[in-house]
Amino acid sequence: MPTLTVSPEIAAGAVALRRDLHAHPELGFAEHRTAGIVAERLTALGLEVHTGIGGTGVVAILSGAQPGATIMLRADMDALPMTEENDVPYVSQNAGVTHACGHDAHVAMLLGAATILRASAAEIRGRIAFVFQPAEEGGGGARAMLDDGLIARFAIERAYGQHIVTMVPSGVFGLRPGPLMASVDSFDLVVEGRGGHGAMPNNAIDPVVIAADVVTSMQRVVSREIDPLEPAVLTIGAINGGTTYNVIPPRVALKGTVRSFSDATRSAMEAGIRRIAEHTCAAAKATCALDWHPSYPVTANDPTEAAFVRAALAAEFGEARVLESPPVMGSEDFSYYAQVVPACFWFLGAGDATHTFPNHHPAFDIDEKALVAGIAAYATVALAKTSR
Ligand SMILES: [Zn+2]
Ligand SMILES: [Zn+2]
Repeated sequence: MPTLTVSPEIAAGAVALRRDLHAHPELGFAEHRTAGIVAERLTALGLEVHTGIGGTGVVAILSGAQPGATIMLRADMDALPMTEENDVPYVSQNAGVTHACGHDAHVAMLLGAATILRASAAEIRGRIAFVFQPAEEGGGGARAMLDDGLIARFAIERAYGQHIVTMVPSGVFGLRPGPLMASVDSFDLVVEGRGGHGAMPNNAIDPVVIAADVVTSMQRVVSREIDPLEPAVLTIGAINGGTTYNVIPPRVALKGTVRSFSDATRSAMEAGIRRIAEHTCAAAKATCALDWHPSYPVTANDPTEAAFVRAALAAEFGEARVLESPPVMGSEDFSYYAQVVPACFWFLGAGDATHTFPNHHPAFDIDEKALVAGIAAYATVALAKTSR
């Protein structure tokens, strides 16, 4: 039984704002224009607004009519360093920067929800913290906000977040209790050989051939060392070396990403990759330098909170629009909030026949009708949690 109405004005405002943010994307920790708009809108709603948290983060507090716990709703604000390939009126105006992950929509939806919840303050017990976070795309903006005292400063006891995805039909939600998204680590690997003439490889140590060996051998960590029932991904996303046909370059540089769902797999992946890289290089008289960059942990939903969110969304939107999501190998720095307070993260579908490109694709775009569902979802979960 739907109980919450997103007015046509709020819906139209969210579309307009999402298009404005889409046209003016900003990279992590540089979301100055975006954060400025967010702070201005939240101030206009009469909320208590705090800026500059964890860099460009913004937090607004809505106090309900009755005392109670504080929960947070989160939206991330940053865009990706890539060039948009869409022919739309709101195409990115910032060269090499694109909202290809829907964070523009997250901001617009959370501001829409803040407008609705502000009008419902009389029903609310406790407080709602609207958290607009910088730098989700690799920068760890959530970590920065936590390190800036987010939880203690606002006495936050629960955290909720949603992510727009085109792999799910528009207006449909997906979530699961427990691990939802993978941990991520990345690494730089340099194979150091000895350069020389392409016609005399015996006088050189060819890092191209060695790097090729390293790339294929490292996949054996996944296929031969990790439990086949444990998810693990190793992708080499970049391999750079050499300049022309007949020169053996002195070195080759590789960049890789690793995804997993447990601490044991995570450390086994690092150990295996390091061992195979070092020994493959040594066997060919080369050396290697591996620089490991630990990144986001597994995003795990608190089972009680996931059941609560699922029930609240099903009551509002109907059971058919709330699906059990499989775990996905993508990663999220919402995981850091979930490590410190009971939390739930869910997916909001925004795909349809004309919006089929996945998140992070240069032609990623969304069915904007999903914005209404996202606004209502934030507001529904917050009201269900605070109005009892
Ligand atoms: Zn992303
Ligand atoms: Zn994202």
